[in-house]
Amino acid sequence: MDLALHGRRALVTGASSGLGLGCAQALAAEGADVVLLARTAERLAAAAATIPAPTHTLVGDLSDLDSIPGLVVAADEMMGGIDIVIVNAGGPPAGTFASLEFEQYEDALRLNLLSGVALCQAALPGMRSRGWGRIVAITSTSVREPMANLLLSNTARAGFTAFLKTVATEVAADGVTVNTLQPGLHMTDRITSLYGDTSNLAATVPTRTLGDAGDFGRIAAFLCSDSARYVTGASIPVDGGAVRGLQ
Ligand code: NAP
Repeated sequence: MDLALHGRRALVTGASSGLGLGCAQALAAEGADVVLLARTAERLAAAAATIPAPTHTLVGDLSDLDSIPGLVVAADEMMGGIDIVIVNAGGPPAGTFASLEFEQYEDALRLNLLSGVALCQAALPGMRSRGWGRIVAITSTSVREPMANLLLSNTARAGFTAFLKTVATEVAADGVTVNTLQPGLHMTDRITSLYGDTSNLAATVPTRTLGDAGDFGRIAAFLCSDSARYVTGASIPVDGGAVRGLQ
């Protein structure tokens, strides 16, 4: 299927590794112009080198909320506009109600909820005025089944999902779709730092395999295509069947 992404301009945040990089690679493979944003210039350069097409890199820290409008302007200037934003950042620390301090909730909400709100505030007006746009946010299957020891992630991502679901209805008539993708277990730095030994994880997934960043990125690219124009306000697991509930 031709996803018709030639000429589309995508800002991918948290793009120097893992799922964000998988999305950037998939979008570029379909012909999109891509800006990769993360905190570290060296990691961004290595990530860009995996993409066999000209790409742009942008150093920025999404936990600095005041910097986000300027980062979006910079990405816009690099590409001449922004049609697609893949909203992503690193996950918050693991922890339980007993172990976590109040300030850690503030940090998690800043990075995994408010930074996404700021990205939408900066990028959506241009998409709406041009009558075409795509927001795809990377969240987690923990929105469906809150996970033990990941209280910060469970809390922030549920709130962000509710924000995006509401915004999706407000911008749908302008040709802009807003969706979330919920990763299950994909082999990335995040998974090795959370679980250490990952050798037994695949047994918990119906496919008996962990996903990789490519499995995830290809679904994101499809959601950014014209073919997916009638999918909005959706939260879609990409998890090898790991979520057991009906919704
Ligand atoms: P990852 O491999 O750790 O990649 C995180 C990316 O975000 C890196 O490029 C990192 O680069 C960047 N980043 C981190 N903090 C940032 C900040 N403050 N500002 C800008 N960029 C930042 O993680 P991943 O596995 O791809 O996961 C992506 C998201 O999905 C995370 O929120 C994770 O919790 C969630 N998730 C992943 C899985 C999975 O199976 N992998 C499952 C459920 C949920 P720099 O460090 O260079 O900035």
